[in-house]
Amino acid sequence: MALRIVELSGGVGGARFARGLDAVSDVELTVVVNVGDDLPTHGLYVTPDLDTMVYTLAGLEGPQGWGRAADSFVVNAELARFGVDNRFQLGDLDLALKIFRTARMGAGQRLSEVTDSVRTGFGIVATVLPASDDPVRTIVTTREGARLGFQAYFVERQHRDHVLRLDFDGADLARPAPGVIEAIDSADVVIIGPSNPPLSIWPILAVAEIEAAIRRHPRVMAVSPLIGGKTVRGPADVVMADLGLGTGTRAVIAAYRGLIDLLVVDSGDAEPSGEVDGVTVVSMSTSIPGREEAAELARRMIAL
Ligand code: GDP
Ligand code: CA
Repeated sequence: MALRIVELSGGVGGARFARGLDAVSDVELTVVVNVGDDLPTHGLYVTPDLDTMVYTLAGLEGPQGWGRAADSFVVNAELARFGVDNRFQLGDLDLALKIFRTARMGAGQRLSEVTDSVRTGFGIVATVLPASDDPVRTIVTTREGARLGFQAYFVERQHRDHVLRLDFDGADLARPAPGVIEAIDSADVVIIGPSNPPLSIWPILAVAEIEAAIRRHPRVMAVSPLIGGKTVRGPADVVMADLGLGTGTRAVIAAYRGLIDLLVVDSGDAEPSGEVDGVTVVSMSTSIPGREEAAELARRMIAL
C-alpha cells in the first residue's frame, strides 16, 4: 500500500524536498504550502511559495529555485515605461499563470480550486494545497519598529533588517483549505520540509486547526534548513537568532517545540545528536540541489 506523506512547505527549500518525495515510488504525496507571502502585484494575485512548489514539482523552476526556467522579462521591463515599481521580477511565462489565477479568482474561485487546475495544467500528480483559502499575511516588525509586509522585508529590503516580531495577520480567522486536515489526519507521516521555520512554517501553523492536527499526529518529522549551522540561502538563521530561538540545531528544535518527534540535520551538524528536548536528532546528508539527492534523503527518512 502506498505510504501517505504530508509535507508542510515554504518555497525553494520545501519544494526541493517535495520533488524528492515525489520521486519515491509508492508515496502518495500531499504538500501544504505557506500563503503568508501572497501579495497583489500589478493587480495580479501572486502566491510565491505555491508557484515555486508547482514549478519545482513540474521540473520547470528557474535557476535560483523560483520562477520559471528559461523565462524572459519583456513585460516586466516594459512596465518601467509607466513608472511602475518592477523590482519584484515576474517573467513572461510566470505572468501567464498569475493572469490565469487572478481571472479565475475574480470569477469567484478559491485559491485551492485554482491551484488544482494549475497542478493539472503542469501534469503534477501530487496533491498541492494552500494552507488556507483565507488571507494570512506575514508582517515583519523590525528592530527599528517598522512594520513591513513580507515582500517589502524580503525583496525590497533584501531581508537586511533584524526582526523583532512576526505577526500573521488574518490567521486567527483563517480556516484550513479544503483537504488539509483530512490529509494530515490520514497521513502515515507528516514531514516539515527544510523551509525557513519562522517565515515559512509558522504562518502555516498560525492556522489553529492546522497546528492542532499536527500536534495530535503521532509521527511528525522535520528537516533542518541549516547546513553547517547556516542557511543555504535566505535569512532563517538570522531570524531565529533575532527571535531568541538560539542558533543551529537547537534553534530549529525550539522553533518546532512540542510539534515534532524527529529532526533530520545535515551530517556536518551532528552535534547535538540523540535526544534533545524530547526530539530525536538524526544526521544524514541534507544537501538536496537536485531531484536525485532529494529522493535519496526522502528514502532514508522513510526508512526511519
Ligand atoms: P522560500 O519561501 O523560498 O524562502 O523557501 P523555504 O522557506 O521553503 O526554504 C528556504 C530554506 O531552504 C532556507 O533556509 C535554506 O537554508 C533551505 N534550503 C535550500 N536548499 C537547501 C538544501 O539543499 N538543503 C537544506 N537542508 N536546506 C536547504
Ligand atoms: Ca516564501
